[in-house]
Amino acid sequence: MENIGWKPGLESGLNVWNAKWMNGVTPEPQDRLLDPAFIFLGTLQVRELWKSDLTWNAPLVRTLFKEQDAERIIASTLCMSRKQDAVFWPLTNDGVYSVKSGYGIAFMEFFEKKGTIKDKSRISMTGRGFCKSRLWSLPGPNLWKILIWKIITNTLPVGFEFQKRSIEGNHICRMCLEDQSYSETIEHIFRDCGLSVRVWAGSLLGIRVEGVTMVPLSERIINWLRYLEKMEDGERRVLVFLATLWGLWTTRNNAVFKGDRVIPSVLLESIANNVDIYLQAMRKKKEHSEKVLGQAMPSIGGNETRAIKDGFPVYMVGGRDQCRRIRVKVDAGWSKNLAAGIGWVAYDGEGIMFEHGSRKITAESALHAEALGILAVIQWAAGKGFLHLEVVSDCLPLLCQIAGYAGVNHVVKGILQDLKGLYACFHCLGFSYIARNLNAVAHGLASRAMRL
Ligand SMILES: [Zn+2]
Repeated sequence: MENIGWKPGLESGLNVWNAKWMNGVTPEPQDRLLDPAFIFLGTLQVRELWKSDLTWNAPLVRTLFKEQDAERIIASTLCMSRKQDAVFWPLTNDGVYSVKSGYGIAFMEFFEKKGTIKDKSRISMTGRGFCKSRLWSLPGPNLWKILIWKIITNTLPVGFEFQKRSIEGNHICRMCLEDQSYSETIEHIFRDCGLSVRVWAGSLLGIRVEGVTMVPLSERIINWLRYLEKMEDGERRVLVFLATLWGLWTTRNNAVFKGDRVIPSVLLESIANNVDIYLQAMRKKKEHSEKVLGQAMPSIGGNETRAIKDGFPVYMVGGRDQCRRIRVKVDAGWSKNLAAGIGWVAYDGEGIMFEHGSRKITAESALHAEALGILAVIQWAAGKGFLHLEVVSDCLPLLCQIAGYAGVNHVVKGILQDLKGLYACFHCLGFSYIARNLNAVAHGLASRAMRL
């Protein structure tokens, strides 16, 4: 049986770590997953790697497997016609890919043999919806989100689950003080344990974990997340929340598997550290991508300039002389019955408004209307003979498409080509972004035109 390769079906029950499900081999896990903190991934099944629309959950796949394997998986397509897993004889030599041995994987295999701890009936509708739609867009490392996912789907391997299946071992919480003995349930680890209560209180998130024990932990977690998100500084609070759950889980594992002593103040410090490390990494990543974008395309053919200003792309065609430039703010309005309006306001080099215009049009989408607005402005300026023009819009997706930072939407493809044809009319033509609230005059003109 061990050499059998599998093609996963839509309801694949194959274990991701044991079965040879990727072209006849088992993909290799990331090294860090061999740490006992990740034993909860042991029961992962292949079907858990795709989203509800039956495409791969790419962030999850990249978190779990080594880069090369992850990209191979993401590039592969699922068989839409078959529900069950199908046997497949691998043509590749055995041993090219092998699962790393190690404590974590050994534990995963052990768990696999004892049967899955999945108990689908206990997953609430709210939990299922949350996992499908919101969970993966939360801030924070994917591994923290996987932990939440495992809590909500009730698939975390804790003492109580072993006990239910008569698996030998100690099923008592190891984080508790020595003279206490509580059965180790998910609720106990993350909510009721004396340590958890202290850590939540110390986290200053302002959420109360004691009390209402009737509400399942998974529902509480979703409610807390929604509550924290809406608060001031919501993203940071959500991060602290996720880091706290993660900290409790790793503390628990270190106590169970390494016999480490639990010290609440140390845990609180490591939670704060983890949040800072993540935020710092994100800042670095952002700075780096801005630098790369700004440098990668200083000029193409000597007359295009792309740069990032205040975090937004600026795109210029032609010379870079800071001559007296006409600046035109443009906006569009659009409604579902395809009625649309465009409005624009022109300012001279001193920043004084000297002309404005608006027009009722029809458009297929809001993006389409915005593109028609920009085209109208450029045609107007070219007709007037202005040689130095800056077009200002609050439609970031469109600006990114014009500047080549994003793929062009098919609806506006033709318009952007027409724009390009007009570039030659100018000495210097630039596109830049403005926040919506600073584009009120053009917006007002566009809305009025739309209602005509
Ligand atoms: Zn406890």
